[in-house]
Amino acid sequence: EYHEEDIDDSNFETRPPVVTIMGHVDHGKTSLLDKIRESKVAAGEAGGITQHISSYTVEKNGEKITFVDTPGHAAFSAMRARGASVTDVVIIVIAADDGVKPQTEEVISHAKASGCPIIVAVNKIDKEAANIDMVKSQMAERDMTPVDWGGDIEFIGVSAKTGAGIDDLLENILLQSEILELKADPTAKAKATVVESLLEKGRGPVATIIVENGTLRVGDNIVCDTTYGRVKAITNDMGKPVKELGLSETGSVLGLSDVPAAGAIMVAQDSDKEAKDIATKRAEHERAKELSKSTK
Ligand code: GDP
Repeated sequence: EYHEEDIDDSNFETRPPVVTIMGHVDHGKTSLLDKIRESKVAAGEAGGITQHISSYTVEKNGEKITFVDTPGHAAFSAMRARGASVTDVVIIVIAADDGVKPQTEEVISHAKASGCPIIVAVNKIDKEAANIDMVKSQMAERDMTPVDWGGDIEFIGVSAKTGAGIDDLLENILLQSEILELKADPTAKAKATVVESLLEKGRGPVATIIVENGTLRVGDNIVCDTTYGRVKAITNDMGKPVKELGLSETGSVLGLSDVPAAGAIMVAQDSDKEAKDIATKRAEHERAKELSKSTK
């Protein structure tokens, strides 16, 4: 268990921010995520983006930023309900030619409830019908007044198509993150959040995680909710095998006995026995809870 008084902050380091992009369908969330990642893939190796991935880390001016895709708002809510605080900064994407839509309203309330700093990315500014002022006034009406109108929300015009404004957006994220003074301990036992998971044929349960604290290494004994195991292999966000993942880094982990739910917290343990004991106790507890529910 984790107790406040056990926290030793002498090894704390600044960690990269974890950013979520949310918005109304078709406003360009996926395009924006792909465009931001493009620079990294291009810098890495030929082939470009072959598939959309759920999370990745990019570098801007020598500083890292991790982006995480929320597969759906329901999943994001579920993660929040479980207390998973994986996001540090929320970006609300709004198409400049379409403005605030019902799902944008939903996203605004999620974003406000998260307590995270919010940046509005006004997308599709390359379009003839783009109207940034319309978006600003719609948002101002919803208590999200732009900085240049005397409020405290940054609005950045971007185009996921041309790449315009993306540097501005990344720089703004880094500014927000500096204010947050995000810190964690790379020497601590790993603690990570599962952002996606699946059962892969021939490989078993695969959990995509973001490291919140510590360093996760191949060979670590881990517990994740009611499942446990030993980290057999890790692939990074470029699909390359790596030995470890550091603060705010993301990758896929093999070795769990079962598929954990999105939002589950993965924690490294001292021994395989400890990992198994914790997972088994939790599973028993879950069963007892189910049983008492069904007999009520
Ligand atoms: P999502 O549903 O929010 O993930 O939206 P998508 O990324 O799938 O984008 C929806 C549509 O808008 C696609 O046809 C994109 O090509 C288009 N689109 C996205 N961003 C831009 C942009 O900046 N400019 C233009 N002109 N089209 C865009």
